[in-house]
Amino acid sequence: MAAVAAGLAARESAEGLSITLYEEDEKVGRSILRSGNGRCNFSNATIDAAIYRNTKFVEKVFEALETQAADLPGFSRDDCPRDSFGEEGDAASSRAVPANAAPANVAFPNAASPNAAPANAVLRLFENLGLTWRKDAEGRLYPRTNKASTVLDVLRAPLDELGVAVRTNTRIARIECPHTPSSPYTLVLGDGAFERAEAVIVALGSSARAGMFPPDLSFAPIEALLGPIATDAKPVKALDNIRARAKVSLLRRGELVCTEEGEVQFRAYGVSGIVIFNLSRLARQNDTLEIDFLPFCPEEEIAFFAKQRLTGLRAIYPQGLDVAAFLRGLVLPLVAQSILKTADMAGNEAANEETAQRILHAAKHFSLTVKGMGAKQQCQIHRGGLDPQGFSADMLESIRHRGLFGAGEALDVDAPCGGYNLHWAWTSGALAGINAVHRLLEGDPSVKAVR
Ligand SMILES: Cc1cc2nc3c(=O)[nH]c(=O)nc-3n(C[C@H](O)[C@H](O)[C@H](O)COP(=O)(O)OP(=O)(O)OC[C@H]3O[C@@H](n4cnc5c(N)ncnc54)[C@H](O)[C@@H]3O)c2cc1C
Repeated sequence: MAAVAAGLAARESAEGLSITLYEEDEKVGRSILRSGNGRCNFSNATIDAAIYRNTKFVEKVFEALETQAADLPGFSRDDCPRDSFGEEGDAASSRAVPANAAPANVAFPNAASPNAAPANAVLRLFENLGLTWRKDAEGRLYPRTNKASTVLDVLRAPLDELGVAVRTNTRIARIECPHTPSSPYTLVLGDGAFERAEAVIVALGSSARAGMFPPDLSFAPIEALLGPIATDAKPVKALDNIRARAKVSLLRRGELVCTEEGEVQFRAYGVSGIVIFNLSRLARQNDTLEIDFLPFCPEEEIAFFAKQRLTGLRAIYPQGLDVAAFLRGLVLPLVAQSILKTADMAGNEAANEETAQRILHAAKHFSLTVKGMGAKQQCQIHRGGLDPQGFSADMLESIRHRGLFGAGEALDVDAPCGGYNLHWAWTSGALAGINAVHRLLEGDPSVKAVR
């Protein structure tokens, strides 16, 4: 995205800029392919800076891109009047439609209503790049092809057209500052060779490491997040591979930190699933995860729910009912066994109003102690990296180092699941790309390169 935006800005503004994209992998954009289970949840219909870490900074970056991209071809959308569809005499216009007829209620791909423009500069650019997408019930945006490769295709295809050189299998080991204000940056490559560039955009994702940058750039330690949580193993061991819909509350010293509702996947070491991933951004060791297997039944309704359920079951089993039978049909059998264990009850204990309420209470407060992150290789983001406070939010340029820009996960910004992290990567990449070019246009016109 940074390279595409730089290419668009350079095409608009100047001759003779050379833009190079360095990629240590043999192909660019592999991280896009693995996103969203191979479908790439590339953005969200509702983007709110408040859900991001370093909110104020992110908010300004979002605003800056909207302002700066407004008139940049590629990011803007000229509305196409409906009567311009179909040339005179072709099949579309030869249909007998009265000139003043209301537009047919056709929803074109991407648009909430037929003529609505996408909500932000990133989506407008994706639309202009040719991407069509769909929105799921939670507002997550996916390519209509349901394949992450489509997102990568539309970004990679114009690089050639925009004059961006792509150097794959090329690792950047270190970025060294200019020795004098007018000299370029030095990119030290993995094989010891070096290259020079007037402006550098750091978009290394979670591979960014403190030693790669000028030492005066503040860099927070990298921490894998948005992944499974390891808990005390005893209560979950028997539930390995079970999935259950639940509300999960994260508690710290008894105080509620955050609640998420959705599918929880149990693992031998803890819990996983999108709701858990989201809580992992906030969880700390020794916090409590309280799993409510009955989110539809509010606490104050437990007595009524117990009574109603007992009445129904007694109509079928008038001879007697135990607590295991009381839980049957309410939760999965293995979940029922675990609930009984935490309630310190045997399955054959008689179900009456007291035991039924006790068991429902246990089902709403299934507690696990957080030990840390579970399988780190499954984590979707890494917190830490370059401190955004060292970068201007309106350009994404280092405050200390003119010509050095940051974007994406290399900066210490993260958000929950839902397309927000990629939306940050696109937005910050685009803003850095545009401004790296603008910075060069202010400098010596003889040698200009963005890396
Ligand atoms: C399994 C998984 C699924 C995910 N799904 C989603 C999702 O559906 N929606 C969402 O919003 N987010 C998702 N994310 C998060 C999202 O992928 C990241 O937030 C996003 O890719 C960050 O973009 P980036 O450009 O900053 O870094 P990256 O995408 O990591 O790109 C950095 C690039 O730099 C290259 N590179 C690194 N170091 C060097 C070096 N030294 N020299 C040269 N090249 C280098 C890398 O090979 C890579 O191509 C997912 C993450 C994972 C792990």
